[in-house]
Amino acid sequence: MQTEKKVKLAVNGGISFGAMLNAKQLTVLADYLGDQELEVTTFQQLYIEVIESDVEFIQKKFGEVGLSCYPVGNFVKSLRHCNFCKGAVEEGMPVAIELNKRIAGRPVPFTLRPSYTGCPIGCGEPLVNDIGVIKSRKGYDLYIGGNAKGTYAKTGMLLLEQVQPDELYVAVDQVIDLYIENGKKREPFYKFVNRFGMDNILQYVMNGSAQIE
Ligand code: SF4
Repeated sequence: MQTEKKVKLAVNGGISFGAMLNAKQLTVLADYLGDQELEVTTFQQLYIEVIESDVEFIQKKFGEVGLSCYPVGNFVKSLRHCNFCKGAVEEGMPVAIELNKRIAGRPVPFTLRPSYTGCPIGCGEPLVNDIGVIKSRKGYDLYIGGNAKGTYAKTGMLLLEQVQPDELYVAVDQVIDLYIENGKKREPFYKFVNRFGMDNILQYVMNGSAQIE
């Protein structure tokens, strides 16, 4: 008998105060899982294994209780974020939600981890993720190329400072576009940034052109 193909889904409670799950969400998850286990990742996600043909149904059912589902693998992950302890508006939660909507799930050469944090204290650890956004004073600072793993761990570099939400969305889209078009297969984003060069990436973001090797 042919068994149906299974795929992994990353699930979380969406962007809100803290990375919380409520009883309703846990019940829906438990109902679906039955005896199955789930994996808790360091990126505020729960990995579950589902039958491929069920994905659409699960996304709808989970979505009804506010659970978000994302693909696992070489995609942009959902935005890691801080707890917005000083308030949604002050810390730019709507901007984080919009940014996540625009980029999470985009296919890329290698898994890309974006992070958002509502003030320079940086609880979402934006500088050790591939793309890091910090709300600071009246604008948003954009860092790229951080890496938390292995002996190559490094902090990201500042690409843009004190930009407004619309400029931020466009710049993040452009950086990801550039990586999709020019990144080598399975090339981590921080390596791509080193190879392509910060100046070259900045030139592309500012003028729409870059020196492609
Ligand atoms: S980064 Fe700032 S706003 Fe966000 S949880 Fe930490 S202290 Fe609060």
